[in-house]
Amino acid sequence: MSKSETATSMAGEEDRISEEEEFLAAQPFDLLKIPALGPLLRWRHARTLLETPLFAISVIMIVEGLWGPTLSPKNLATVLTWVHFRGALVLAILCAGNLFCLACPFMLARNFMRKWITPRFAWPRILRNKWIPIALFVGVLFGYELFGLWASPWLTAWVIVGYFAAVLIVDGLFTHGTFCKYVCPIGQFNFIAATASPLEVAVRDHDVCDGCATKDCIRGRRDPSSSLVVLQRGCELALFQPAKVGNMDCTFCLDCVHACPHDNVGILSRLPAEELMSDPQRSGIGRFSRRNDIAALAVVFCFGALMNAFGMVSPVYTVEGWLKRTLHFNSQAGALGILFAAVILVEPALLLGLAALLTRTIGGVKSGWLAIAVRYSYALSPLGFAMWLAHYGYHFFTGLYTIVPVTQNALAELGWPILGAPQWTLVGLPKTFVEPLEFGFLLLGLFGSMLIAWRLAHDDSREHPVRAFLPWGTLSVILFLCCVWLMTQPMDMRATMLAG
Ligand code: SF4
Ligand code: SF4
Repeated sequence: MSKSETATSMAGEEDRISEEEEFLAAQPFDLLKIPALGPLLRWRHARTLLETPLFAISVIMIVEGLWGPTLSPKNLATVLTWVHFRGALVLAILCAGNLFCLACPFMLARNFMRKWITPRFAWPRILRNKWIPIALFVGVLFGYELFGLWASPWLTAWVIVGYFAAVLIVDGLFTHGTFCKYVCPIGQFNFIAATASPLEVAVRDHDVCDGCATKDCIRGRRDPSSSLVVLQRGCELALFQPAKVGNMDCTFCLDCVHACPHDNVGILSRLPAEELMSDPQRSGIGRFSRRNDIAALAVVFCFGALMNAFGMVSPVYTVEGWLKRTLHFNSQAGALGILFAAVILVEPALLLGLAALLTRTIGGVKSGWLAIAVRYSYALSPLGFAMWLAHYGYHFFTGLYTIVPVTQNALAELGWPILGAPQWTLVGLPKTFVEPLEFGFLLLGLFGSMLIAWRLAHDDSREHPVRAFLPWGTLSVILFLCCVWLMTQPMDMRATMLAG
């Protein structure tokens, strides 16, 4: 080979290498390609492996809640549920994705039941929306305040028992993932929160899907000798991978990963909350702008975060007392009901209605005010998520070590004190560490909400995007200031030894 031929060949090789490097750099990060972790998650029993410890912990919490110490800071049921579980859940969603649904202990019980019981009914069409879980979600927040669930191990245990019973009844009667998609309030919380996650279950290469004849990711993989025998189920939440957009309704169950015969589904990185910046047709969901129920979920998710935090700061007692005296209520339920209705129904209806009206009049957006309110309500999700993070993160970090003495105590009461005497002085991280973190979360949430509102306004009003954006930007700032005010109030240290 002459010198010039060698040089040409080397240049060609360099071009090829740089093209390959560019291609690899353009590929999103894929959790399933991480050595050891990827093969573990792709193992067909991975979900059972992850569900089993949470199932065991749930059983321990039920037993401890019903028969353990009656003082909530000393009981595993209350400490784990109201201090650790909620914080770990939102932090996992922030760092990765919907990991709680992936390791859901209720699904372990359900899948075990379905080995013997085959559901026969389809969930009624009229209920195929989010209105039931929204009502249940508000009911859980209301019941938490009214019955003081954080202070009652016994009630906390019955909530867990009730959850198992509800899953088994609903999914024992109705086919597919009915409970997850149409009933579970924790699931809906996770779905809407996970719109801000950095990872999603998604197709690696759409060209491969174009040439795929079987579509096993949705249909399930069948035995070639008998199409009635399902070797691996497809997506029970009706999400068809090539047309799936984002994390809404995705339980991270990985059934699609196991079913795809072309190994074409991964857990891929993406820009957090990117899925809220546009309004494509989504498999199993449709367009967000036509889903009033999911928009209502986003609104309840955001204003519920404010209400849940408001219920823990001292001004709430003043407001409740004033309502009781003024309206002559004898019980707390009436005053609390009015407070919930004001914060979760009336306040968002007024604020979103006004913002939508302004977007229409000064921003020149042609749609009706309700359609505008529905479209932009998704922009509030990041701020709502930030508030849940700030609030639950606060309890999680400031009560982080409480799990140690409570476990020591539980073992000692069983006559097996292998971890020594309970060290009740162990509590958690100092507030000087936790508080900056909380404000960091809130700032990130504000930034996310503003960015989404701006992108939507830019798409809706080419002539006056700033004017279309302003009402939603202002609303985001107002809500952010409310969050900051709430986080600077003295907060009840519920279910810890510091509880008031
Ligand atoms: S994800 Fe897999 S099974 Fe589904 S369409 Fe694509 S290649 Fe086919
Ligand atoms: S099967 Fe459906 S719910 Fe499960 S990970 Fe795949 S898309 Fe999500």
